Amino acid sequence: MTATHVNGVTVVADEPAPSPISRPGVTVTFEQIRHLLLADGAEVYGCRHCTYTSPNINSIRPHLKAHKPKKPKAAVAKAPKSPAGAVTAPPNRPKLAARRKAPQGPAKDAKVLASLSLGELVERAQLTEQMRTQRDQARSAAEQARRRADDWKERADDYRARFEGMKGRAEEAERRLGQVRALVQ
Ligand SMILES: [Zn+2]
Repeated sequence: MTATHVNGVTVVADEPAPSPISRPGVTVTFEQIRHLLLADGAEVYGCRHCTYTSPNINSIRPHLKAHKPKKPKAAVAKAPKSPAGAVTAPPNRPKLAARRKAPQGPAKDAKVLASLSLGELVERAQLTEQMRTQRDQARSAAEQARRRADDWKERADDYRARFEGMKGRAEEAERRLGQVRALVQ
């Protein structure tokens, strides 16, 4: 599951990370990448499946491969592993890999990011602003809860003091009653 702490700092907000392909009015988010806000104001990205986090969203994408079932083709490609393997890699392999990755690889993302309009950049900034607001709300809620707890503790101390006083008076009354009974008998 997604990290709830990063280096001991509590995660105060957790939402799907916005994708750079978001458009004004249409927020596209990554399914497996979380945008996390920490109690100290830092923002990091996290894996949806485990506690892996990184300040760089681009580090999460390659990490997600760890959660994918390995494809048989990848296993076959790895199989001819020999000391000379790296040098004598099949000449068609890089070409094939490039062709496979092209439609949805990081290169395309970089292109999309570079093509962001001013409006889109503003929208991204607003998303971050939204998270700051959430963080501030979480902080103020925590502060209120702490004050309420302090208040309760104060009242509890007060009740305890009063109870001790009542107990003292009751004991005193009991003692006097005992004296009276002794005299009567
Ligand atoms: Zn993970």
